[in-house]
Amino acid sequence: MMDRHYPFWPKRVPKTLTVPKTTLFDNLKVSAQRYPDKTAIVYYGRSISYRDLLNEVNALAGFLQREWSVSAGDRILLDLQNSPQFVIAFYAILRANAVVVPINPMNLTEELAFYIEDAQAEVAIVGQELYDRIAPLKQGQTGLKHVLVAAYSDYVSPDMEYECPDMVTAPRQHIREEGVVLWQDALQHGSQPGPLTADSDDMAVLPYTSGTTGRPKGCIHTHATVQANAVGASVWANMTADAVVLGTLPFFHVTGMQHSMNAPIYAGSTMVIMSRWDRDVAGKLIQEYGCTHWTNISTMVVDFLSNPNLSKYKLDTLNTINGGGAPLPEAVGQKLYEMTGLYYAEGYGLTETMAQTHFNPPDRPKLQCMGIPSFDVDARIVDPETLKELGPGEEGEVIVSGPQVLKGYWNRPKENQESFVTIEGKSFFRTGDIAKYDEEGYFFMVDRIKRMINASGYKVWPTEVESILYKHPAVQQACVIGVPDPRRGETVKAFIILNEKDQGKVTEQDIIEWSKGKMAAYKYPRIVEFVESLPLSGSGKILWRKLQEEELKKRRGH
Ligand code: AMP
Repeated sequence: MMDRHYPFWPKRVPKTLTVPKTTLFDNLKVSAQRYPDKTAIVYYGRSISYRDLLNEVNALAGFLQREWSVSAGDRILLDLQNSPQFVIAFYAILRANAVVVPINPMNLTEELAFYIEDAQAEVAIVGQELYDRIAPLKQGQTGLKHVLVAAYSDYVSPDMEYECPDMVTAPRQHIREEGVVLWQDALQHGSQPGPLTADSDDMAVLPYTSGTTGRPKGCIHTHATVQANAVGASVWANMTADAVVLGTLPFFHVTGMQHSMNAPIYAGSTMVIMSRWDRDVAGKLIQEYGCTHWTNISTMVVDFLSNPNLSKYKLDTLNTINGGGAPLPEAVGQKLYEMTGLYYAEGYGLTETMAQTHFNPPDRPKLQCMGIPSFDVDARIVDPETLKELGPGEEGEVIVSGPQVLKGYWNRPKENQESFVTIEGKSFFRTGDIAKYDEEGYFFMVDRIKRMINASGYKVWPTEVESILYKHPAVQQACVIGVPDPRRGETVKAFIILNEKDQGKVTEQDIIEWSKGKMAAYKYPRIVEFVESLPLSGSGKILWRKLQEEELKKRRGH
């Protein structure tokens, strides 16, 4: 068994955390009681106090319960860009004792149909720019009954001076269709919700991921599993009520959800929300609001640092810059330090662990490193075949046990069995990542067992992309791999065998264009190569790893 002493555990924080056994909604209630007049949200020039935030959350929860009979445990799809509405809807769903199913707003109709059916969601809350994608599902077989449509412009200051995406400023559309209610109407008709009956062990959030294999699966997270990391993130990053947190990562994904929304609400901090990344807007917001914390992903850091206007912005209020979900290249971390005097505090975790299981100590981080296991986490490296525990420097699968680990996948008994192992009487989650740790207990990512592509932190599952590619009439066989990309870290490449009759008639570009219309923007293959054959195993399976290795060799030039 490994030595569980971490010599560089930060001195100012305890090793174990006492996390309140309350619901996430209670965090908001307490912050609103403590700091009613304090700004909870800044959104492109408009400020919303904690009191107003709580009032809107209550009104929406009351509406959901009274008008649409939302009750305890119901799953509600949340398909919004980062916005005040995301925060209000998230907490209103929890206030109504229901469950948030956060969805990537890049998803298209077919993908949404899957989530709605799988989660058995009858209600969806969507941004108006996304309404057309969900509209066809209202009459279909998915079970979707009600849609609440939000216009971000309702929360933007009229004298706003920021460059922001069109979807933010687009005026409210008056969609009048059965089963559809507009956000402002819902709030006006909202009333005090019924009692808060949810318990800390009840399901709170059901985020989707494909895990190690196959189609997306919902991760059952309770108030307790989310709370563990919301509190953990705020304590680790020294996020107090004075903190001003810049929210640039998408809130639908666990890292943004926890670090830029749930942790600041727990601490009573101010959230400065951006709907879409823009390096100049970020620079202005940091300067104007004196942002202290910023959680991000490597592509944002690279873009931010290469801005020729960077020196125009006053950035010295920042004291914590961190991120996770993908590695931050060492050189970028170094440049960040030279330009801001701040170390990048990288973290590691998964949707299954509601963000971090590992964190770098802010005062002694290592670059391109997952960090050390965070509060109350037992992380080990094991041989993926024998599950034998390995020691420092040895490469193996990361397994984790801790208060943030999911309770299981939603309705997936088989995957649940495969994803957990019991060692010394304790249940560990198998991450599918290969890593090693050094003598000081810092973990480093080496490889992945799971078939996943990490494109700027967006996870792409080749099997899902392939299943869509097979719907193209000219595609006979397809194999999707990840290839290195200077900007996205990895990008998606598809090898395709065309039907004989289509050869010479369909181009690579045709396939790319067709894919764009069928799947979310981060998923579609950026590179397509037509081939005559694919390497197959004895049982006829396509050997994707072999293709990937050959591609890497080719790119390295030998
Ligand atoms: P997700 O469920 O989208 O959060 O993706 C989780 C996966 O992201 C992990 O299993 C890792 O493969 C990858 N990941 C997370 N953090 C890091 C990191 N710091 N370095 C490298 N890969 C990471």
